[in-house]
Amino acid sequence: MINEEYVESYIRSLFPPHEGILKELEEYALEHNIPIVEREVAQLLKVLLKIHKPKRILEVGTAIGYSAILMASSTEDSCIIDTIERNDDMVYIARQNIKKAAYDHRIKVFYGEAQEILKYLKAKYDFIFLDAAKGQYLDFFSDCAKLLNIGGIIISDNVLYKGMVASDKLVVRRKKTIVNRLRKYLKYINNLENFETCVIPIGDGVSITYREE
Ligand code: SAH
Ligand code: MG
Repeated sequence: MINEEYVESYIRSLFPPHEGILKELEEYALEHNIPIVEREVAQLLKVLLKIHKPKRILEVGTAIGYSAILMASSTEDSCIIDTIERNDDMVYIARQNIKKAAYDHRIKVFYGEAQEILKYLKAKYDFIFLDAAKGQYLDFFSDCAKLLNIGGIIISDNVLYKGMVASDKLVVRRKKTIVNRLRKYLKYINNLENFETCVIPIGDGVSITYREE
């Protein structure tokens, strides 16, 4: 947690609780320790999607399909979502959940390593949500940038990684490599020509990168 607990719980108390499948998946994730987007990040995604109205979304890191379903429910029925997951158990569960949510005509789960799948995807996207192995964001980014339309945005989740990215005092030794890679990533996307980035300290840290040309 990167914010004071009282701030986080206050903000969370403002949102009406999800119902139906999203609520079920939140409970499942809690019970099985699956790292789905925090409630306030879910809310940020919803607002961004409603402003941006993407026609095609790409997600890296499906898990049980929670964020994919959330994104589907915040976009037009014509919006297509492609999502990549390397864990076969997760792919199986996600596909079941997506079917149950009646979004299987819009959400396609690609099974495999993102590094490989990103290389063969051909379509362009307006909105990309990066939520997978944090140590690989820099690698993912260059492939994602190629798949991003002008005017599109890339959202990266968990970029402040429990606050460790912002302070050496918090870094535990075995996370040093990931933290260093995330720092490199944030520096890179914040200084990239033709892109505009901001970092928002909610959830586990979220960055938004806009492609200008
Ligand atoms: N976006 C989901 C949570 C994703 S959790 C949600 O908010 O509901 C991160 C997922 O990314 C995990 O299921 C993990 O298996 C997957 N992942 C991590 N690195 C990956 C990679 N290199 N390629 C494909 N999937 C990856
Ligand atoms: Mg995440």
